[in-house]
Amino acid sequence: MTTTRFAPSPTGNLHVGNIRTALHNWMLAKRDGGRFLLRIDDTDQARSKEAYVDGIHADLAWLGLVPDGEERQSERLAIYEEAFERLRAAGRVYPCYETAQELEVRRKIQLGRGLPPIYDRAALALSDEECAAKEAEGIAPHWRFRLDHAEPIAWDDGVRGAQKFDPALLSDPVIRRADGSWLYMLPSCIDDIEMGVTQVLRGEDHVSNTATQIQMFTALGATPPAFAHEALLVGSEGKLSKRLGSLGCDAFREQGIEPGALVALLARLGTSLPVEPLADRAELLASFDLATFGRAPARFEEAELARINHGIVHQLTYAEVEERLPEGMGEAGWLAIRPNVATVAEAADWWSVVTGPVEPGDLSEEDRSFLARAAELLVWSETPWADLTGALKAETGRKGKALFLPLRQALTGRAHGPEMAALLPLIGEEAARTRLALAAKSQG
Ligand code: GLU
Repeated sequence: MTTTRFAPSPTGNLHVGNIRTALHNWMLAKRDGGRFLLRIDDTDQARSKEAYVDGIHADLAWLGLVPDGEERQSERLAIYEEAFERLRAAGRVYPCYETAQELEVRRKIQLGRGLPPIYDRAALALSDEECAAKEAEGIAPHWRFRLDHAEPIAWDDGVRGAQKFDPALLSDPVIRRADGSWLYMLPSCIDDIEMGVTQVLRGEDHVSNTATQIQMFTALGATPPAFAHEALLVGSEGKLSKRLGSLGCDAFREQGIEPGALVALLARLGTSLPVEPLADRAELLASFDLATFGRAPARFEEAELARINHGIVHQLTYAEVEERLPEGMGEAGWLAIRPNVATVAEAADWWSVVTGPVEPGDLSEEDRSFLARAAELLVWSETPWADLTGALKAETGRKGKALFLPLRQALTGRAHGPEMAALLPLIGEEAARTRLALAAKSQG
């Protein structure tokens, strides 16, 4: 069964790039009727915060990306310890004692000589006695995974195609800090194996991690999952800007962006499929295909999101927005006003036009007497607007703008807005007659 996972580190709020990764993992699993797991990568205790975990849950719920299971790395430390001991016994992890400063000096020397800044494996040459001596001096080791240099590392990436790395050109990755805490790399492989993850889909910034992780899977006796790395998301100015890095679900919600709009955009951004306000997730899922993903960075434009949002808002049913509408605004109100709003919040403004009071604005002498007649001719029926305008047209000969505009202004106080045929029944007979009469008496 296709099993994917979204594995955020709870060290900050999810930004639009993380949201996209979560969405694509959800889509990949759901398209195939598989499982989408949430894994909280909280091994960095100093930087992980419970509030961010809560935020991740809230954001996924808002987006409608419901995980089929959830795990936390901080609760799985015993499992990592056991695997670590196995790798240690097999000589695949080794202790290192260099300080960050020492490593930095070596890097600078390598770079100065035009060499790639790869860890020189000096610690691998230390004898057991030398290691013991370091520890007797009170230096606790950090640990590296020993890459096997025998063969190139290759995989067929779901987005990038054939990938090949020479392990000799990679540093043995640090997997554990001197205080015993884990970096995410090894625990991630252990978890992916245990949780039956079949597909790892993540950002292209992880490509070289994948090369080393493939060897970790093998060292742990497992077959690596399939990997796919999507091109990163960039802002209109061409990189993942500070702004994009801070744009998360809360900010979008405040702007009136619907989760369905974000989903519709991010599902297809950077793919060869058209970005459309598709509200139907089944349709989005059916067309989801890693083969459509491009290698170029995906450009995220807020104007495009606003455009998609517009299209999505116009498809929202009353049941979907009911809780966010003003008191008293029923289904007929939503359906009348929906074509005229860019966000659900704007419905309140139009609803205040329905409930009144309204100011008719400037009207000519002629329009005022026309409106006085309208107040008299108004009869309440199934179709009061068609009846009223029909009667006025027949009697006064007015048509088009001359017929409709003064009525709209008197009834709504505005020159534009939702269809009057839908609004008038909502305004109601008494209020409508009063507004027409008041406008007729207003000062020109
Ligand atoms: N916690 C890691 C990150 O957020 C997970 C990466 C992965 O998907 O494997 O970068």
